[in-house]
Amino acid sequence: MDIGQHLIRGHFITLRRFLLTFWVDIRAGRGLKRRGGGTFWFDFFDRNGEKPPTVTQDSKTSGVFTVEYPDERLPVYERFRVLPVLIYDQEDGYVRCTCCNICAKVCPPQCIWMSKAETHHGEPYPQPREFFIDMDVCMNCGLCSEYCPFDAIKMDQNFELSNYERHQTHVYSLQDLLVSSEYYSKTHPEAWESAEEIAERNKVAKKKQQRLQKGLTAAPTPAPAASKPAAPKPVGV
Ligand code: SF4
Ligand code: SF4
Repeated sequence: MDIGQHLIRGHFITLRRFLLTFWVDIRAGRGLKRRGGGTFWFDFFDRNGEKPPTVTQDSKTSGVFTVEYPDERLPVYERFRVLPVLIYDQEDGYVRCTCCNICAKVCPPQCIWMSKAETHHGEPYPQPREFFIDMDVCMNCGLCSEYCPFDAIKMDQNFELSNYERHQTHVYSLQDLLVSSEYYSKTHPEAWESAEEIAERNKVAKKKQQRLQKGLTAAPTPAPAASKPAAPKPVGV
């Protein structure tokens, strides 16, 4: 009998707290708003492509709430890293990667592999013909990005990678990996403006000019950035 009473009492306590959460919101004038801070009253319908609101829970936020993902999101911070991407220069589509293979050598789980492009005369050209990363094996360590001497591989923040297939779709090819320098500058504004990255970019730009001056301008096969689909949208910025 005692056990039954305690069970019923526990349910009433839960119910009371549940109702109180609404009462607190109604008294604070937030009754018809998302508890996480979203700006829409009734946004069950299409929001005409508007970006989901980003919500924060800092020292000024009252109460405890559930972030209603994907209608609401927590902010993605600049240093948040998920998977690597390859950068091409926005202004001329130049793929920075020279296929030097360093990232593949330092990658702890060995999930990067590539092959070099060739000129029309069959000579090796310092750009990748193929470049693959198995994203199911990648452990998001960022070592490839740290070691790349050409500022060509960077860590991206996009974490929405789910799909219906477990194998081939997660082996990303060159076309999947390429993003523009402009995309990177938007997702990593602080790093982009830092003295360290500016110096690195200048160094890489000099190497690029030297390579072009050495007569390596013959078109590689294929020219990867030209057929690049639109870069993915930055997440939470
Ligand atoms: S991404 Fe960087 S380290 Fe990797 S092959 Fe290209 S240039 Fe070399
Ligand atoms: S982030 Fe780490 S595991 Fe992933 S590809 Fe780069 S080096 Fe390899």
